This record gives sequence, C-alpha cells and structure tokens, in this order.
Amino acid sequence: MSFEFQVEATSGPARRGRLITPHGEVETPVFMPVGTLASVKGVSQDVLEQLGVQILLGNTYHLYLRPGVEQVRKLGGLHRFMAWPRAILTDSGGFQVFSLSELRKVTEDGVTFRSHLDGSQHVFTPESAMEAQIGLGADIIMAFDECTEHPADPPRVRQSMELTLRWAERSKKYFEAHKHEVPWNHVGSAEFADKTQALFGIVQGGMDPALRKESAERTVEIGFPGYAIGGLSVGEPRQLTREIVGSTIEHLPADQPRYLMGVGTPEEIVEYSGLGIDMMDCVLPTRAARHGLLFTSEGKISIKQARYAGDQGPLDPNCSCRVCTRYSRAYLRHLYASNEVLAQVLNTVHNLSFYLDTMRAVRHSIALGDSPHSLSEVWSRLKP
Ligand SMILES: [Zn+2]
Repeated sequence: MSFEFQVEATSGPARRGRLITPHGEVETPVFMPVGTLASVKGVSQDVLEQLGVQILLGNTYHLYLRPGVEQVRKLGGLHRFMAWPRAILTDSGGFQVFSLSELRKVTEDGVTFRSHLDGSQHVFTPESAMEAQIGLGADIIMAFDECTEHPADPPRVRQSMELTLRWAERSKKYFEAHKHEVPWNHVGSAEFADKTQALFGIVQGGMDPALRKESAERTVEIGFPGYAIGGLSVGEPRQLTREIVGSTIEHLPADQPRYLMGVGTPEEIVEYSGLGIDMMDCVLPTRAARHGLLFTSEGKISIKQARYAGDQGPLDPNCSCRVCTRYSRAYLRHLYASNEVLAQVLNTVHNLSFYLDTMRAVRHSIALGDSPHSLSEVWSRLKP
C-alpha cells in the first residue's frame, strides 16, 4: 500500500490517527505549513525537521509558473529538488488560479488564465492539473475543482458544484492512467518502486448544507482515499464555516482522512480538530510572522509595538521553542523595527512551533479521551 489512514483514538467526533505516505508517517490531526514555492519562507528544511514538521504543502500554480513542472520533474521531483524527505501535499492549482491570476475564463474543459508574474496565458484542465501534480511528485495530490465564490446565488452554486464533480471524475481517470509516471524512481532507489501518490477529492457546494451533502455523497461515490472540504474561509462568517464543516463531515467516510483547506487561526484549528477534521493548512502563521504578528498561549502579540522595546521577558513564557527559550521580546522588537532578515526567520519559527505544539496538545487530549474544545484549554495542559 502506498497510502493508508489509521484512526488510533477517538473522542466524540474528534479522532487521532496516522497517515502513512510513501515519504513517512504523519500524525493527525495535523497542521501543514505552507511552502508555496518549495520553501516555507524564511525557514530552512533542517529547522522544519527539528520543529517536527511531518508534512508540507506546496502550491501547484506557483511551481508550475516557476521553476516549471518539467524542471522539477527532471530534478527528481519536489522532495529531491527541495531536499525534503518527509511527506508533501500539493493543491490542484484551482484555488490559486481563482484568487491570484487575472482574466481567467472557466469553461467545461478547464480554466484559461494569465500568469500573475508576466501576463502569459495558460490553461489548467483536470488532466493538466493532474499531469502537473504527478510531475511535481507530492505524496498527496488534489482533484481539480472550482472554488465557488461567496456569496453566490443557489443556481450558480449548483452549477459550480456539478462542474467540480465532473472535473473530479476526469481528475481520477487521468490519475489512474498516469500515476506510475511519478518521478520517485530515482537511480538506485528500489524503495519507491511500486509506490504511487494518493489523489484526494474535494467537496464543494457553497454555504448550502443540502448541496454539501450531495457533493460529499457524489464525491465519495467517485471514490478517493481522502476527502477535502473546499470553498470555505472565503469571506463567510466563522459560525457559518463551522456549521458547513459539521454538516459536510457527517457525509464523509469515518475511516478516511478529512482535510479542511485554508484554515485557520490557532483557535480554529483546535475547534475543527474537535469536529473531526484530520488535516488543515493555512498561510496565516507564516504570513502573520513576517508582519510581526505572533500567536502565543496568552493571545496575539504585535511585536512592532514600542511597549516591547524594553521587555526582557520571552515572547511566550509557556512556549519552549528555540526562539522563546533564547531571545527577549525587546530583541525581537528591535530586529523587526530594524527590518532585519532574522526577524522574519525567528518570528516564523515561533509561530510554526506554536501551531505544531497546539496540534500536539490536541492529539494528546484526544488520546486521553478528552475532546479538544478551546485553545486555552489545550495549552493549559502544556504549561509547566
Ligand atoms: Zn516560541
């Protein structure tokens, strides 16, 4: 088997488990740091390993434009190219075509778009998005979908959901025919001889629980080893996100992984784990870090504020990361105010540590049979 998911403990709807991928095991629920361009901005791969990152996310849209899929393939695939031996997931490129590119045009066949880099014209179809993701060679890849905009009227949501279902079938068909083209069979490596990637389906259906149910059931009918919930965190109120997540999960198989795309804050990742989500990703911890916004067990801190200029205390007294155990708030504030590159590095390392520790605490609490409810509750267990 190339891919497996094992549920090891449950507590209410929450589950603790393990994804087994060709590039190692991933403990779930997991938060996946985003490495858009084959790099988690500011943090080297050896540090990511020391932080305990077991899976990273790469963005197909960005890597397709630069350095190009063929280049990555020739260099042995994403793992070898970026010297990352652990698991990787790539998105299908769909969401970013919708959010970043200009002049996109959606037809039955796919999406025509212009690069945000140089305005050049490209086409993504379910087939070409699979071809790109097979060439990049992540362990988990995503079906090509249309992320329905919000708000959208009911006929539009249905039409978009139907398109995503037809694209899911085409994605699977292309993947099944080409999955052995993954660039893992490096010279002298028998380890990956028969291993293939895992293709996940994506549930859409806007903010309508009935359409979410239908999308979930019909996507499960097509059949994938895991399912993502897409089209959320697109500007809707958080209460609605929670309701739609809850109403989608009940129609997904209990023995397969569930991936909620594009969330969230530390509070949200705890909460969604409590609802039974197994995988999440978001640029928030890394992007916020680069803007001096730091998540701590005592709330959010904007390190640029003058009040930290003479503060000798650690960023977060409850955090045992390499930044909090070594540097003061005063020093971090100075680095940020001086626009030092090290500010971005240290801020990102702390925020990622905070997210990873939060997920460790969540998994621990599920293993104890204690469903995780809130961030402060899971962190109270970590305090010395
Ligand atoms: Zn820290």
